[in-house]
Amino acid sequence: MVLLLDPKVKMRTRKLRSEHGTTDYNRDPQTREVRDMLITIDPRNAAVVTIVIHELLHLFMAIEYQVDRNFGEMLEEGIVKGLTEELQSYIHDAKRGKLLQKWVIAVNAKLNLPTKGA
Ligand SMILES: [Zn+2]
Repeated sequence: MVLLLDPKVKMRTRKLRSEHGTTDYNRDPQTREVRDMLITIDPRNAAVVTIVIHELLHLFMAIEYQVDRNFGEMLEEGIVKGLTEELQSYIHDAKRGKLLQKWVIAVNAKLNLPTKGA
């Protein structure tokens, strides 16, 4: 959620050919700091929040654990997929309807998409 609200993380919608979402960033060659963070989401997909969570986890794992530098692409995807499922079932739990709604509103605001029923 912190990364979602971070103005340094840019998000845009675009029709994508083979993926639901992509994450792009560069690392500062000296400090190794992650910068130029851009998440692209294909809004035609129904599970926009899930895709945003997935792409944010790629960023989080890169920033906190340099997963992109220490693991191969396949392993990174596996780790991020597992974490996405965990978080996904956590916020979609019926007891946490408000949390899900918060995510939907924040994601839609960031992507300039209308929130249904709001
Ligand atoms: Zn991924």
